[in-house]
Amino acid sequence: MGYQEYLQIVKELNYKFRYYKSIESLFEYDQWSSLPEEGTEYRQQTAAFIGEEKNALYRSGDACRAAEYLSGVSPDEIGDEIERGLVRTFLSRWRNAVRTPEDTLRKYNLMKADCMNAWKQARAQKDYRIFMPWLKQAFDLKKEIALAVNPEMPAFDTIVGMTDEGLSVKEVSEQFDLLKKGLREILGSLQKAGQPKEDPIPDSDPEQMAAFAQRLARELGYRPERGGFNDRVVHGFTSFMGPRDARVSTYKSGSYNLIFTCLHEAGHAMYSSGSSDPVIRAGMWGGIEGGFHEANARFFENMIGHSRAYWDYYYPQLQEEIPMFREIPEERFYNVIHQVKPTLRRISADEVTYSLHAILRFELERDYFAGKLRAEDMAEAWNDKYEEYLGIRPSNDTEGVLQDMHWAGDYIGYFQSYALGNIYDGQILEAVKREIPDMEEKIRRGEILPVTEWMEKNIWQYGCCMTAGEMIRKLTGHGLDAGPFLRYLEQKYLEQKYQAD
Ligand SMILES: [Zn+2]
Repeated sequence: MGYQEYLQIVKELNYKFRYYKSIESLFEYDQWSSLPEEGTEYRQQTAAFIGEEKNALYRSGDACRAAEYLSGVSPDEIGDEIERGLVRTFLSRWRNAVRTPEDTLRKYNLMKADCMNAWKQARAQKDYRIFMPWLKQAFDLKKEIALAVNPEMPAFDTIVGMTDEGLSVKEVSEQFDLLKKGLREILGSLQKAGQPKEDPIPDSDPEQMAAFAQRLARELGYRPERGGFNDRVVHGFTSFMGPRDARVSTYKSGSYNLIFTCLHEAGHAMYSSGSSDPVIRAGMWGGIEGGFHEANARFFENMIGHSRAYWDYYYPQLQEEIPMFREIPEERFYNVIHQVKPTLRRISADEVTYSLHAILRFELERDYFAGKLRAEDMAEAWNDKYEEYLGIRPSNDTEGVLQDMHWAGDYIGYFQSYALGNIYDGQILEAVKREIPDMEEKIRRGEILPVTEWMEKNIWQYGCCMTAGEMIRKLTGHGLDAGPFLRYLEQKYLEQKYQAD
């Protein structure tokens, strides 16, 4: 057998893998919006079965023979970028499937529920010590698995690579150091200069807010024939059900925050459902996972959705549709959505401080896996970093180390993707502006589609064929670079603002 025959095997396995993933998406969507309590147990069994079948695909004799052959083919020899992506993805799934020690994985899966319960209990009692042994166990099993999958690599590099493929911990750390320094300088300048103090904006009618937010998402280019809105969940998320089917789930709320949730999720949805036909035929649709997907969502939430030009166009419409906003001048709304204030909570953090929350969690994980930080000292180390980076100290563990469910919920080595999303956005924004220099004027006139079309043509159509590193190099000619994002923030928060005053 030769390259073409093995490639055919890879394609077929990939199809099946994607079908299982789509079923898992459907389950997740259902679990958060309509699964009845007494249906949970059977669903868990079904989901576990699907998960096992999905991974077993890559342990078959065919998969092993294809892996043996394709490991000997250098990526440079594969001219077609879709095929290159298929082979790269295949080899990485195969490695995970055959090298993950089954007993360690079983141990990990068995403790998951207890780990989550311990986290919940620890939160209720504001006491990290209840969760500590579970965190230690989860991290250590993860480390064991990572070392088995890639014995030649430090464990944390493998773990980070499972979310953000192709990035090394060293490269991420270098850019995070630059970002951290720049963000703290911006924060310092803003605190010294003082920001306009604005009263919070009250909630309005949830039905009206949902109608407005969903219209804005559609006007970005999110097409109803490729998705839809479901407002029956507690946190916003997007389900990638199929190559032309990405559904947005949100909460019901009269808060203007719903607008940004809808723009964010529409970004994920448009990215996921915007692959080209050849990419879909190869089963490589949906976008690059991790920080790069997040970048596509945050681009519409922040770079577009928080821009002055966007609100110059949409604010009069918001006032027209929701009468409460007629009492609030655009300037006040703009200031409220740009208030920069260090807080203890990551999920409600502003555009300037947000990345610091993600960076410090990444650093804690990195230090743990490097053997420099013990589970026993995690809560203290967390508080010290908050004090150092943001100037505030949690008063208890629930405000601190216990605030995110990630470590209890198998999202270990994941936090970097939130800050990476911002870094990529700075780079993407520069690339867009090079081709659409009058982007702001266009947006101010309500012409947002040229930007969406740019994203589709330059990013979305390629699905998940490339790694984020390859994609960003294609767009900008550079690798990961925190500089553009810092310049964007400096311009927006330091220069523009005070010129206007
Ligand atoms: Zn997101």
